[in-house]
Amino acid sequence: MKNVEPSLTILLLRTSNIDDSVIGECADAIREIFININIDIQKDFVKIPGYLYDDRRGQYHAEGIVYFISKYFSDNRFALLIASVDAYVPGLNFVFGLAVPSIRTAAVFTHRLKMLSDYNNYILRVKKEVIHELGHLLGLNHCSNTTCVMRFSNSVLEVDEKSYLFCSRCSAKLINMGFRLKSSFHF
Ligand SMILES: [Zn+2]
Ligand SMILES: [Zn+2]
Repeated sequence: MKNVEPSLTILLLRTSNIDDSVIGECADAIREIFININIDIQKDFVKIPGYLYDDRRGQYHAEGIVYFISKYFSDNRFALLIASVDAYVPGLNFVFGLAVPSIRTAAVFTHRLKMLSDYNNYILRVKKEVIHELGHLLGLNHCSNTTCVMRFSNSVLEVDEKSYLFCSRCSAKLINMGFRLKSSFHF
């Protein structure tokens, strides 16, 4: 993706037990970072179908969830679900989120983000993981800068170590792709 359509929209979706304040803070964070991205919030809650639940593991199938909500994406619209479930991909015990850029769809799984945290920090963690998955959707890979939002997090403590902002290198990549960022947020 070289030149970004001026009308790129992110559609934020959620499951029924995600509070308004969580989705509102995530929308605000995206607006704080990007100048030319619109946010839509889907009114109806997403109901994740039972067949995506793995009884043996007690977790949901992350990729299945992302494909399930991919019906919401279109050329100019990316879909990003915030789901209060625990999810995994084969080979990993759990994932905080998953993005599949080819279908412009991602999900963040909040179950484990609640651990060892008060409510405000929980919201901050969700915000970080939402911006992280959005970064993947826009074409970014993981970053080695410990405070960059694109750093891969293996635990909630690693989520706590990073910020919800892109480092200057990741910011430069996004600007190269045609995104306009608020310059005060580069570090
Ligand atoms: Zn990642
Ligand atoms: Zn970075």
